[in-house]
Amino acid sequence: MTRVLVPDHIEGAAPLLGARVQRLRGQSMGTTWQVLWADRDAARHDAVRETIEAELDLVVAQMSTWLHTSDMERFNAAPAGARIALPEAFAEVLDAALWLAEASSGAFNPAAGALVNLWGFGPAPRYTDPGFAPPGAEAVHAALAGTDWRALRFDAATREATQPGGLRLDFSAIAKGHAVDRVARRLGELGIAHALVEVGGELRGQGLRPDGMPWWVDLETPPVAAGHAVPRATRVALHGLSVATSGDYRRAYLHGGQRLPHSIDPRTGQPVAHGLASVSVLHAECLWADAWSTALTVAGREEGVALAEAHGIAALFVQREADGCLTETLTSAMERLAG
Ligand code: ADP
Ligand code: MG
Repeated sequence: MTRVLVPDHIEGAAPLLGARVQRLRGQSMGTTWQVLWADRDAARHDAVRETIEAELDLVVAQMSTWLHTSDMERFNAAPAGARIALPEAFAEVLDAALWLAEASSGAFNPAAGALVNLWGFGPAPRYTDPGFAPPGAEAVHAALAGTDWRALRFDAATREATQPGGLRLDFSAIAKGHAVDRVARRLGELGIAHALVEVGGELRGQGLRPDGMPWWVDLETPPVAAGHAVPRATRVALHGLSVATSGDYRRAYLHGGQRLPHSIDPRTGQPVAHGLASVSVLHAECLWADAWSTALTVAGREEGVALAEAHGIAALFVQREADGCLTETLTSAMERLAG
């Protein structure tokens, strides 16, 4: 039977009478985006697309590690001791990322860029490149030296950050969520109260569909080995709610029989290997859903459930057990959404 998750808080706005679901799609941040919204006709498509693309372009221009001219790459390339004034969005995301780094004792670490690159999940070299080999212990050890987020001085009031030397920021586990929040907020400012925004699988919904239903979204279920029970399907009403899922089965490679996913434990320098098939997080803000899903994936089920409980985070853990079957764990906040 399908598990249905609904928010405990219902927003006021009534569905837009006579409206139809409008849809726009595109590509940004190395992935795809999609926006659905309720409108009476297609007259606003151009204006809506322009708004969406402006927000996504802003996030890329500030926070991309693929773009040498981004503010982030400017910070990453700066010499030790350089003080850099950050633009507003960059500073907002950095502030959130540093908070979560502390809260998760470094399971989530925005300064893990050097490690991410080393394991082939940065711009280059990619794990998909011919001849790519995962790093040895010495290289990992060397990269770990530059991942101390506490060495980065950041003054939120002046938005100035100091590069301690060799530290590489990477917001890949939080920027998509932030981009979703920005787009949703801007749509609200355009008077669009009913919308579903998605960037690279991270989603945020507000208001209702024209038929009065919430924006229903089905969580992706991880693949399961033949002969094992398929996990329960989960459907979420994204009504004033965001969802993000981290999974070990999408971006990963096999090396020496070992599965190396793109979530790295910055405390050991190794890709995570404790058998979490996926972690889904529901949160009002997509930035937090996105970042927490990576934090909990890296923490693993045991530490992750305790961490999520301590912060009242609604999370669904799907663990791949030694015998190949999948078992689910819901935090109390997630149980509450499940009714
Ligand atoms: P997922 O959907 O699996 O959460 P994301 O794209 O949101 O995937 O985040 C994964 C990316 O986050 C990696 O490619 C890497 O750039 C970065 N990353 C990996 N490990 C960490 C970590 N421990 N803390 C912060 N960012 C990380
Ligand atoms: Mg994520």
